[in-house]
Amino acid sequence: MSQSITVSQKQIVIVEDEPDILDVLSYNLKREGFAVASAQNGALCLELIQRIKPDLVLLDLMLPGMDGLDVCRHLKSNSATKPIPVIMVTAKGEESDVVLGLGIGADDYIAKPFSPKELIARVKAVLRRVDRENHSEPQQIIEIEQLIIDASKHKVSIGEVEARLTATEFRLLYYLASHPGRVFSREQLLDQAFGNDVVVVDRNIDVHIRAIRKKIDPDQYFIETIRGVGYRFKDLN
Ligand code: CA
Repeated sequence: MSQSITVSQKQIVIVEDEPDILDVLSYNLKREGFAVASAQNGALCLELIQRIKPDLVLLDLMLPGMDGLDVCRHLKSNSATKPIPVIMVTAKGEESDVVLGLGIGADDYIAKPFSPKELIARVKAVLRRVDRENHSEPQQIIEIEQLIIDASKHKVSIGEVEARLTATEFRLLYYLASHPGRVFSREQLLDQAFGNDVVVVDRNIDVHIRAIRKKIDPDQYFIETIRGVGYRFKDLN
């Protein structure tokens, strides 16, 4: 299959075994200007992805033979394919697989049934985020609307009012706000926000989130709960 690809065109690999769904995904992505290649099972997709190094992989989790989680595990354990963002495509009720997938390095997920609009928005958001994370240093001061998080002074304020967060709450908020739009499982937050200090931290992430919300986000405007999965700081830019 040969296809001409312009320099600015982003390449997406779709891994999906159901031809109808594959057609819909492919049609909508192409219409948005993406170059699309596809594979209908895990083994074929690994070969394809290794070969063309796409900008993003859209990965159905329920595949014949090697399932989507195994595919993701392979991609994320290989240094050549590790940086390629993966959006898992899941069926309703597969939240535990989503948590597993995030834990092994998937970047996001989208649950069936979804609208083409939702799909395109999610793909673009992940591409933007990966681009941003690859090209910027961690920010000392994060300013999102009324909320200001100053890492150098360990200070958080909302409008003119300073909020008193514990060290744990601060670390958690700063980590989430540094990755807007990205969903994290509770395990990931423990591992990634606290790293080696994780042993000294109360492992109940929900308790810390509740405390943060009480102090700065009572309406859950900034931090969203993703049911069955974890938490996400909204991408408000
Ligand atoms: Ca499937």
